[in-house]
Amino acid sequence: MTKTALIYHDDYLKHEAGPGNPERRERLISIMDYLRNGGIFERVEILNPSSCSDKDLLRVHRREYVEFIRDICAKGGGPIDADTFVRADTYNIARLAAGGVMLAGDVVARGEFENSFALVRPPGHHATRDRGMGFCYFNNVAVMARYLQESMGLKRILILDWDAHAANGTMDIFYDDPSVLNISIHQDPVSFYPGTGFAEQLGEGEGKGYTVNVPMRPGAGNSDYIYVLDELVIPLARSYRPEFIAISAGFDSHRDDFISGLQLTEKGYGFMTEMMLSLAEELCSGKLMVELEGGYNLEGIACSSYAVMNSLIGIPAEKVDGNALGSVSAVVEQLKKSLSEYHSIRR
Ligand SMILES: [Zn+2]
Repeated sequence: MTKTALIYHDDYLKHEAGPGNPERRERLISIMDYLRNGGIFERVEILNPSSCSDKDLLRVHRREYVEFIRDICAKGGGPIDADTFVRADTYNIARLAAGGVMLAGDVVARGEFENSFALVRPPGHHATRDRGMGFCYFNNVAVMARYLQESMGLKRILILDWDAHAANGTMDIFYDDPSVLNISIHQDPVSFYPGTGFAEQLGEGEGKGYTVNVPMRPGAGNSDYIYVLDELVIPLARSYRPEFIAISAGFDSHRDDFISGLQLTEKGYGFMTEMMLSLAEELCSGKLMVELEGGYNLEGIACSSYAVMNSLIGIPAEKVDGNALGSVSAVVEQLKKSLSEYHSIRR
């Protein structure tokens, strides 16, 4: 059995996010070239997805919003916020991206592959129930999670998002819902897009304690992220016992990316993937999928995707020790304290 599936479709290259937008087709071209030249294509199975249906979207998004996007496309397109533009084909390609992430989740949850990586665009984690923003239209990872819940009856799904920006859309969708433990590690939103994703935002109602935001100061890098995984993410996951783990992998937290002040490198992404894989092994028979979010430095996203892919296919990653900046350990202590009401957090 080929253990890893790579989900990709050439139509992802047709998506245009608007003039001068850094979310451009060259991102995926760069990643796929790097994976091909690095010999990854011989070691994985490449699967072509089809579009998700409106029914799949409507498990996540309000009907008015889905119709709004479809109608603007039918009229030829237009802007939906300051940096997010819709064109005639956006509705179809965004459904193809959500379909790709759904397929990546489906083949792993059914045991056809051990793990998977969905290389899709447009990204999805900023899309809320009723609003597209930040280059995102439909929330791909949320569409997948709701699909797995409905088709396979999964009760507990863990989503870890390490994109530089807070996963505000994913947070909005699952804010009152304990069936998804949604953890986002991102640059402190106090002066950074999307301006939300603070440590105090822990969910509401039955979902209180199942949204976790870990704001990082600019300058935080590999060892700080490993510290957060060791001290917070992994103990929380052991308490939650997910049946499936999804990683929303944005690579704009790479040190070469102009968009954030974070300092992760490909080595950090590779080692984080390996840590999450062994966690998945321990908790849910290894069931883990990765899906692409942001990342705008063409070299950075390519070598980072390669590092993640190497970990998925089982090549040991170089170890990174978790020595955190003082500010990171303070945030982690604060979160552990407030989350201990909902989880038994032990290392
Ligand atoms: Zn981002």
